[in-house]
Amino acid sequence: MKRHAPLAASLLVAVLAAAGCSTAANPIQRAGGSADVFTGEYPIDVVCTIGQVAEMARRIGGQHVRVEALMGPGVDPHLYSPVASDARKLKEADVILYNGLHLEGRMADLFVQMARTKATFAVTEGLQQRRDKRLREPPEFEGLYDPHVWHDPALWADCVSDVAAILAKFDSPHAADYQANAAAYRAELAELDKYCRDELAKIPPDRRVLVTAHDAFGYFGAAYGVEVHGLKGISTEEEKDLVHQERIQRMLIERKIPAVFVESAVAPRTVASLVEPCRAAGLDLKIGGELYADAMGPADSDAADYAGMIRHNVRTIVAALQ
Ligand SMILES: [Zn+2]
Repeated sequence: MKRHAPLAASLLVAVLAAAGCSTAANPIQRAGGSADVFTGEYPIDVVCTIGQVAEMARRIGGQHVRVEALMGPGVDPHLYSPVASDARKLKEADVILYNGLHLEGRMADLFVQMARTKATFAVTEGLQQRRDKRLREPPEFEGLYDPHVWHDPALWADCVSDVAAILAKFDSPHAADYQANAAAYRAELAELDKYCRDELAKIPPDRRVLVTAHDAFGYFGAAYGVEVHGLKGISTEEEKDLVHQERIQRMLIERKIPAVFVESAVAPRTVASLVEPCRAAGLDLKIGGELYADAMGPADSDAADYAGMIRHNVRTIVAALQ
């Protein structure tokens, strides 16, 4: 894979400002948000951050959009810094969609800046505006909401409706298409939600404990009655806390939990370090497999799309804890 030097977000802002990111063909002003209307040539260029958001944009936008994701499989969005080529993509985009709630921590300021001159939206904006009761406010995340909302397909389905409304307003001639595409996608997510519920019910209640590298599965746990523990906090940027790790080790041993899980975008050693001390204490602890926490899988994997990602996680968890 070609490596690019990371570009500081502040520098990227300056580059985009100098280039004049609002072109004559696309005079978007966000004063009150009412002037976000597409006047360019189809397809609409949509630039997204994570794969889950890109899939949502593709499914809702259908033939009217061309979608690109900045972050591919195995990329950790908490640590991602925009590279030079991202500046060009963001500058040329008609719409920018990102997850928000500080998932893309190193790009958060950039998106706030870009929203002044370009149609730039967090797909979780609606949840936040409605103060959705399901939004988690983990005490260790300093007053911010937990950004990993896609792990609850029902919550993600509400983001689908919000993005459909955004596109319908931005490109009103195709509003009916966006609404119809969103309805079809939501129906798939409802089916996925039922699958998760049915499958996870196969794990004995006292073993519904999910230990992973970082605290990404809070919404998943809340939706399906699974107790979750991350070795690191909400952001992978946090350092591992050894006192916290020992507490998790004791819990695993006392409750005879058979497996813990590595994540595709976090170094496996974070979780592997639990195995030896637990085995020394007589617990036959296994690595239950790899979960896709923040990034979907490669194109040739069973987690190449959103539903595949969720199903892979559920299958892996049920097989190891059942
Ligand atoms: Zn995360």
